[in-house]
Amino acid sequence: MKRDEQIARLRARTEAWDVLVIGGGATGVGVAVDAASRGYSVALIEQHDFGKGTSSRSTKLVHGGVRYLEQGNIPLVMEALQERGILRENAPHLVHDLAFVVPNYEWWESPFYGIGLRLYDLLAGKYGFGKSRNLSREETLEKIPTLQTEGLRGGVVYYDGQFDDTRLLIHLVWTATGQGAALVNYCRAESFLMDDELVAGVVARDVESGAECEIRARVVINATGAFSDGVRRTADSSAEPMIAPSQGAHIVLDRSFLPGDSAIMVPHTTDGRVMFAIPWHGHTLVGTTDTPVEGVALEPKPMAEEIDFILENAARYLDRPPTRADVLSAFAGIRPLVKSGAGSTAGMSRDHSIHIDRNGLLTVAGGKWTTYRRMAEDCVNQAAVLGELQERECVTRRLPIHRYAKGAIAALGRNVQLHPTLPYTEGEVIWAVRYEMARTVEDVLARRTRALLLNARAAVASAPRVAEILEKEIGVNAREQVTEFLSVAEGYLPDVDQRG
Ligand SMILES: Cc1cc2nc3c(=O)[nH]c(=O)nc-3n(C[C@H](O)[C@H](O)[C@H](O)COP(=O)(O)OP(=O)(O)OC[C@H]3O[C@@H](n4cnc5c(N)ncnc54)[C@H](O)[C@@H]3O)c2cc1C
Repeated sequence: MKRDEQIARLRARTEAWDVLVIGGGATGVGVAVDAASRGYSVALIEQHDFGKGTSSRSTKLVHGGVRYLEQGNIPLVMEALQERGILRENAPHLVHDLAFVVPNYEWWESPFYGIGLRLYDLLAGKYGFGKSRNLSREETLEKIPTLQTEGLRGGVVYYDGQFDDTRLLIHLVWTATGQGAALVNYCRAESFLMDDELVAGVVARDVESGAECEIRARVVINATGAFSDGVRRTADSSAEPMIAPSQGAHIVLDRSFLPGDSAIMVPHTTDGRVMFAIPWHGHTLVGTTDTPVEGVALEPKPMAEEIDFILENAARYLDRPPTRADVLSAFAGIRPLVKSGAGSTAGMSRDHSIHIDRNGLLTVAGGKWTTYRRMAEDCVNQAAVLGELQERECVTRRLPIHRYAKGAIAALGRNVQLHPTLPYTEGEVIWAVRYEMARTVEDVLARRTRALLLNARAAVASAPRVAEILEKEIGVNAREQVTEFLSVAEGYLPDVDQRG
């Protein structure tokens, strides 16, 4: 998978594509996989790197959503549990089961959560990941030895899925290109081509060369997540907003805070939400928050209050309360929540929304990573009607997702670790640049590997070596690359002055 080849395909085509997707996150790439595997001609453009938006900033759970169960949204939970099962079947190399322990400190919690989680098992049906059960105090501590013991009565264990969001995303990009789609990162949709007041394509800019490119398509799909309204307004300045953005932050701590293989699920934070502490790539990921925001940034920063909130709630459950000094990295993402009653919504399915503007621009937004495949299926069904494409069945329920060439990376013979605290090698950097369209130090350290999210300081220390490799492979300026990376990495380092 090489960017030059992908962009050459975009430029070479003179006739209209069946489908053009704007946005290279879970939703857009999922749509590209779906449409290409039905046999449609598909192009996708992403303004920055694949996954630069929300899709690299999730809690990394493939889940039905225990929270929605509490809210009584049974159809949504069932749909997500089914998708969880389908994803594990199609990508067993990228999704695995994880035990979640709900610690009980009150007498009523064990029966209450026990019954709720048995319903969760039941709703999963044949897609179940493992049976939930009540745990004694000893069993609870065996699974989570670092729990606050004072007042601990026992717990309930249930099972959900875990993944690495951008690793899956890159494998979906591979899958889409394998099905014949052309996907290009660093290519921004700047304006729309109109025929008789209907959207007929976009004018895109190759961010690397600065060159403009006209891309015509029978249907244009806006899959830009939290940016959806901005893109819609480029085509129609009077478009009513449909997105209510909300920020969620995470912190990453050392593995010692959660040394076992199980995660903690906190059913009620001090603001009444759920929160997770999860073992992830040899570290502990804790989050998240829910903060409505006005503007939408491509590189959102965790707010000081969000970090404090997570630390405060983690301290209620861990015997060693984490402080700011323990935070190795902090990152935030923006949920592209869809407002209810958003104008002329053409097709709705639970929490994702498919909206067609008067000019024929189709926007798909909302949902979650877990349900990306179902969103794509619904979206392409609508797109086929809108673009008068030949009707074709969705095949992604049984479409294996591209497998990782671990052996091929080892064969590069560069098994030197980037940093002693990180599990990544120079070989992985070379692989990412040659075959996964990584173009910058940030692409490599934030999304092809997860160094920046795991340990921001270690990522900063690795940047010069990664930049050297990039310079050698694709001729970028190593010094500039390091400077740019440092300015992004600053946002992942918790404010040292406020260390508790
Ligand atoms: C804090 C948090 C935790 C979450 N945890 C989970 C979880 O554990 N499990 C789960 O299932 N879901 C989770 N989610 C939800 C999930 O991450 C999102 O629903 C999903 O990633 C949204 O993907 P998207 O493709 O719609 O948006 P994005 O990933 O934001 O992709 C949109 C893309 O469009 C691009 N773009 C914008 N404008 C243009 C343009 N003009 N031209 C070209 N490209 C453009 C952007 O650069 C961006 O990359 C979480 C969300 C948040 C915020």
